[in-house]
Amino acid sequence: MLSPHPDDSERFAALRHDMVQDQLEARDFADERVLAAMRELPRHLFVPPARRMMAYADNAMPIGEEQTISQPYMVALMLAALQTGPEVVALEVGAGSGYQAALLGMLCRKVYAVEIIETLATRAQAVVDRLGLENVHIVLGDGSLGLPEHAPYDRIIVAAGAPRMPEPLKDQLADGGRLVAPVGGRHDQDLIICERQGHDVSTTHGVGCVFVPLVGEHGWRHGN
Ligand code: SAH
Repeated sequence: MLSPHPDDSERFAALRHDMVQDQLEARDFADERVLAAMRELPRHLFVPPARRMMAYADNAMPIGEEQTISQPYMVALMLAALQTGPEVVALEVGAGSGYQAALLGMLCRKVYAVEIIETLATRAQAVVDRLGLENVHIVLGDGSLGLPEHAPYDRIIVAAGAPRMPEPLKDQLADGGRLVAPVGGRHDQDLIICERQGHDVSTTHGVGCVFVPLVGEHGWRHGN
């Protein structure tokens, strides 16, 4: 499915296999579609070149601009909670390196991923393009406002911690749709899952997590 990439050697493939086995399967993570995508996607292409050998470690990692690529296990949990499928149109808020957006591209029909920092958005789009993921569109902008021009979305995933669930994201959720976001304090959040049935949006609380702050209109601003 992915275009072959000259920088994806057998050595990285072995590290990736171990990542899936030791960090996901060993923790009883069993979503087969997510496991298959994470086994295939070269995560090291999404981190700065000097950090490539550490790209498959069991932690989040700096990607520049004071931002991070999330820990593989957290990405897996988020994607499993989202419940993707081949017909799904998905929105990601906080594209960062583009890693999770690329996984979404392998799991969904179409993906829009909004990133507020221009250098990261440009870099993420370049990696996604080189891998031939034509259904993944990185958009520069404030994703706390959603992306009204392509709404509604069957699935929405937020990859930065919000002080409260941004209302525009709930509004842009399709009927039967599902929204997963870390919501809470600046330094620790709960994974919140919203589901829309007609005009009703139900909310459930999942695991505790730690994400970099969501900024922008409905994110963290000076004084809140
Ligand atoms: N999903 C990413 C990791 C996200 S880190 C990956 O796979 O690498 C969180 C990202 O959210 C950062 O890049 C940050 O710049 C971005 N961000 C924070 N607030 C945002 C907003 N309002 N709109 C869009 N992106 C935002």
